[in-house]
Amino acid sequence: MDEMFAIKCQNCGGPMYSHQAKRSFECAYCGAVIPWQADAGEPKSALGIRHTPLTVVDGLLKLTHVSQLERPEDPDWYFFNSHWRNQSVLEHLLWEDRGTAQEFQEATHVSIPCPFCGASFEGESTQRVFECPSCGNKIGIADLFKPGTFSKRLTMGVGAEYVPEQGIPCEITPQQARANALELVRRYPDAFAGHDVEDAIQNDMMLFYFPMALADLRMMASFPGKGLSRETLVYYEVLDWAYPRANYLDVRLMGILEPWDFAKVGSFDPAMQEGDFRVVSVDASTKDQVVIDKLALDIVGNDAETFLGLNKKSIRTWARKARKHKA
Ligand SMILES: [Zn+2]
Ligand SMILES: [Zn+2]
Repeated sequence: MDEMFAIKCQNCGGPMYSHQAKRSFECAYCGAVIPWQADAGEPKSALGIRHTPLTVVDGLLKLTHVSQLERPEDPDWYFFNSHWRNQSVLEHLLWEDRGTAQEFQEATHVSIPCPFCGASFEGESTQRVFECPSCGNKIGIADLFKPGTFSKRLTMGVGAEYVPEQGIPCEITPQQARANALELVRRYPDAFAGHDVEDAIQNDMMLFYFPMALADLRMMASFPGKGLSRETLVYYEVLDWAYPRANYLDVRLMGILEPWDFAKVGSFDPAMQEGDFRVVSVDASTKDQVVIDKLALDIVGNDAETFLGLNKKSIRTWARKARKHKA
């Protein structure tokens, strides 16, 4: 077991809590504030978001960001097969990456001696911050602040240890997350048909930090026209489009979740490391373009059908360009 330290106020001895905005621990009793690191400095700025606005020439939009129209080929990539949905994360890992599956399995209960009250309590070995159930004080793993010393047990997926630089803080409780998941199942019954989702939501829910990239997606697609016109050209622009960079979770289901709030992206700091969570590494064996094509083609068909009444299966040709934001 790694070395522990008590997250305790040096002024009054009270328990302290991480404060994201102040990048420090704050005492619940006397209000003392202690920075996470003496030389922490300012956090790196959030993802650079700079959109190139569309220009209008002679009353027409100038569309410069898409390439030649071509026949769409639905990437027949086996990770998109919905049978993965029937598997637990562990089953998926055992199939794809035995090394991290083992770490994942072995990350179990550990006994923590509380430096405040002396009581021993159980925690998960993947946790970085513990709360003593007897006295309510918080205890952190000694390497919590050292960059690059992230526990390998927390990382899942092919590749070495992976330390995210930035993340979106998790701001909901497990209860709220379960309620949201159930609501999602109610809204999209087809996507979950035949799966025992309610049981999984109650018993297998986990917090993951998942690698995503942010891009502006511009596309054009040609459909058979209505009435006398032979062709309908549809132009799409999706700003701040987030696409996944690993396949350990169901990336197509992630596409129907509410948009992520990228304004909240911040350094992956101690406040994001409370509770039991896992980090998914960027999957080097998955090409970005395959994921982009699969998800983008979903958007092309679904949006054309929903907003313009076109048949999504009748798409003839398309062109797409995802312009990635600089991280
Ligand atoms: Zn205090
Ligand atoms: Zn205690």
